Amino acid sequence: MFNMVVELEQINKCQSILLENLSASLQLSGDFNIGFPGGSWNETIKFNDEIWFHHFEIADDAASPRYWNGFGLAQNLSSNKSNNIVVEINIPTNGINRRVAGFFAENEMGEIGLFHRGSLGGGRKGVGKQAFLSWSSYELTPVLTDGNNETAILVGLIESDDFPAKLYQFLLNIEGFKQLATSGEINEATYISDEELLERILNENPKQKRPKKSTSETIGYERSEFVKEFALRKANGECQLCKRDGPFKTKSGRIFLEVHHIDWLSKGGLDIPKNVIALCPNCHRTMHYVNNQKDIEKLKSIACEQAP
Ligand SMILES: [Zn+2]
Ligand SMILES: [Zn+2]
Repeated sequence: MFNMVVELEQINKCQSILLENLSASLQLSGDFNIGFPGGSWNETIKFNDEIWFHHFEIADDAASPRYWNGFGLAQNLSSNKSNNIVVEINIPTNGINRRVAGFFAENEMGEIGLFHRGSLGGGRKGVGKQAFLSWSSYELTPVLTDGNNETAILVGLIESDDFPAKLYQFLLNIEGFKQLATSGEINEATYISDEELLERILNENPKQKRPKKSTSETIGYERSEFVKEFALRKANGECQLCKRDGPFKTKSGRIFLEVHHIDWLSKGGLDIPKNVIALCPNCHRTMHYVNNQKDIEKLKSIACEQAP
């Protein structure tokens, strides 16, 4: 059983151990702009090829004095833009403070764990602790706090050699979760029980009214009919990813395929023969939902070969 570390002197010791362990594995440092909801700072941060880390102490916030520990993924680190924090694991320095997500706790063997309470929704409705736990493989660990039990996610044991790897896993999980939540693939409805789902449907529209019109803010791009035609001709009815024929013939008698931009137009891709490929609807959806690197490479080499 873990016991929460609540005495300031002990908390200070744990934070120093955390810093020591991280300094040993994050041996690079550099100046970067780091962004968080509400602003950004230029800071010198520590990093390796997996994690970046920045920390300081917030002593002047009377309600929530804390050690601020911000972590990000080094794969996204850039000197040209603001680098978003993946997660803050802040540690209250005034004992128990449930508004702050992090804490240290110690077990009978004297091992000290870094914990996170698991609320990661960033204000998005329904995309919180429960959704993250359902989606990730994390289980809650019980922690004794002043005689009360609470539960939290054990990120890792701070003195252990595998701590940086555990922390990296935690960051990857959160980043993956946030991306799915942002894209709408995980939402309020995703992880509720069947009963609750039916209840929510009923409560939402008890009189079965017709849906209201909605306006969409989706940005479209002007695309060349000639470039599209080029891709369709090259494919000649056969999906260029799975190599199967398109699913049906259109009224004009042509086998149906969709034309996809390998580098997405929304991410700056160009509407030119080298960047288009004809796909069956299944493969096209796969490229938009999964966009597997291997598939991208494969399509790029086909498109480059067939482009003038
Ligand atoms: Zn296909
Ligand atoms: Zn597409």
